[in-house]
Amino acid sequence: MALPLLFSDAVMRQHTIRKAVSLEGVGLHSGKTVRVMLAPAPADSGIVFRVGERGDAIPAVPESVVDSHYATTIGKNGTRIQTIEHLMAAASGLGIDNLEVRVDGTELPAADGSAKPFVQMMLAAGRMPQSARLRPIRIPHPIGAGGNGRWIQIVPAETFRISYTLDNEHPVIGTQVLSWTPTEESFVAEYAPARTYGFLKDLGFLRKSGRALGGSLDNTIVIGKTATLNGLRYSDEFVRHKVLDLIGDLALLGGPIAGHVIARNAGHALNFELVVAIQRALGLALDNTIVIGKTATLNGLRYRDEFVRHKVLDLIGDLALLGGPIAGHVIARNAGHALNFELVVAIQRALGLDRRAALRAAAVSAVKEAAEALVPARRLATT
Ligand SMILES: [Zn+2]
Repeated sequence: MALPLLFSDAVMRQHTIRKAVSLEGVGLHSGKTVRVMLAPAPADSGIVFRVGERGDAIPAVPESVVDSHYATTIGKNGTRIQTIEHLMAAASGLGIDNLEVRVDGTELPAADGSAKPFVQMMLAAGRMPQSARLRPIRIPHPIGAGGNGRWIQIVPAETFRISYTLDNEHPVIGTQVLSWTPTEESFVAEYAPARTYGFLKDLGFLRKSGRALGGSLDNTIVIGKTATLNGLRYSDEFVRHKVLDLIGDLALLGGPIAGHVIARNAGHALNFELVVAIQRALGLALDNTIVIGKTATLNGLRYRDEFVRHKVLDLIGDLALLGGPIAGHVIARNAGHALNFELVVAIQRALGLDRRAALRAAAVSAVKEAAEALVPARRLATT
């Protein structure tokens, strides 16, 4: 199976799920029971959240993030959906790119505090390849955020890799270090099940400020003075959960990443700073190229059909090689410079030696007018 986490230069296709599936549970922060339904989505649509059947579509992209403290929250027009990161991590880990996510509340179910229940849901729904290609994200140069003991950076690399240090003075956590090149198998077995954690001493404060209202021993590793109250799935489950959150947050970029992330004591806020910094670094190309993201261009459009206009602009440039105005109707489909030039050569051959005279005789100013109208159309590229 094509696996976005395992970045390679091979042609990789996008994936969605085969059928709708749902899951019900309590929201970690709201404490309310919520149901989430996943449904297949078309290629290039990305992961799109919606509250209810008719709620606004909220694409899981950096522009939708409205809060990144304690959990990653997206929103639009006053609607918010909290704690999307574990579902996002599950989708990313399984290479599911396009997904419709319907929630009947404002938070995803906490489930068991990990991404495992979402992974099981998506595996039960089945994965379906789509014809559209994935758009890998190549990191152009080292990019970082944070400082003073809490930082995150990404450096260019051939594959996706994460090296993480979690350093906590609490004896139950201590220093946990790992370095991992994700594969689907290791994601499912060793990272997706790592649970959220919290300190027993903080619970009162969190509850008073309206957070962790749904937190319980069923969905959070609760850390007491000298031990956890509910065991551990892995001896280094804490740092594994940090990595899981990071994968969920990086999934906002909407494509497999060729880069090595190195982090120390980062959280959602720093993860999101990195996501924005990566976007900005990729955006250096925005001045002279339409950059197409998963669900929209990153820098708008001058015309709704700017793509085909730019194709026409290229065509006019290539036909200018003939050296005169053309009395003829050019009809093309998905042509490029190579085909344009074939046409130029074929026209030359058809005209024979009288080419220049014939062209001059057939003076048509429409080409010039069209060229003027089309000059603002920019060339396009994909991220
Ligand atoms: Zn988490």
